[in-house]
Amino acid sequence: MTAQLYLDGVERSFDGFKAITGLSLHVRKGELRAIIGPNGAGKTTMMDIITGKTRPDKGEVFWNEKVDLTKTDEAGSARLGIGRKFQKPTVIESLSVEDNIGLALKTDRSVFATLFARQTPAHADRITELLHLVRLADERARPSADLSHGQKQWLEIGMLLAQEPELLLVDEPAAGMTDDETMRTAELLRDLAGTHTVIVVEHDMEFVRALNCKVTVLHQGRVLAEGSIDHVSANPEVVEVYLGR
Ligand code: ADP
Repeated sequence: MTAQLYLDGVERSFDGFKAITGLSLHVRKGELRAIIGPNGAGKTTMMDIITGKTRPDKGEVFWNEKVDLTKTDEAGSARLGIGRKFQKPTVIESLSVEDNIGLALKTDRSVFATLFARQTPAHADRITELLHLVRLADERARPSADLSHGQKQWLEIGMLLAQEPELLLVDEPAAGMTDDETMRTAELLRDLAGTHTVIVVEHDMEFVRALNCKVTVLHQGRVLAEGSIDHVSANPEVVEVYLGR
């Protein structure tokens, strides 16, 4: 196996209900991958398994070939470089944009020490770099409360990047965004691929198309189809279960 993230034959039931059944997923280092599927397909459970929030009943989950993720927990997977961005932003609204990033850069320290710490030049450079990356360089001094919903999502991605993850799991980043923000988010995630492995769970098909990457369609806890967006959307089974046409 040469995948950075390798799931094979994964199963997970909840009270006898099979949420994940024979799931295999292989994602290469630096790859951008979109995961789509109807409600209840098992997308959240899959991400819970990757991050060690949930343990599979069966199957293999490996990270960088050697690390068995079925034996880790959420804190452990974060230490290994697996970062997860949930849908709901958790930015601290009373802080400026740059202070939110600054805080995220120092989350290994106590919050009080962090808030009153002097910023080193290297730290300031890294904040600037991250703000450019997430399209917020012009907003750095603004209170985070003033940001649009989309900008808050980008800030959250910046805060996650401050932890220097190797893999980013991003849950429905385009939900609630304007069309312009949606397209800029697709660009941002494409920029991150290469230097990061990025897995995006998403419903918005226009957004998935703009990601221009391999798509995995989940249904009933397993992979129904995989390939380009054109390839999977031409699959009659996918059309039936997901697109509903
Ligand atoms: P998706 O994210 O694709 O909507 P989920 O992974 O949330 O799918 O859920 C897959 C299935 O597993 C659903 O039918 C859901 O009700 C069930 N499920 C997920 N987590 C639990 C849980 N903790 N307890 C019971 N059922 C669960």
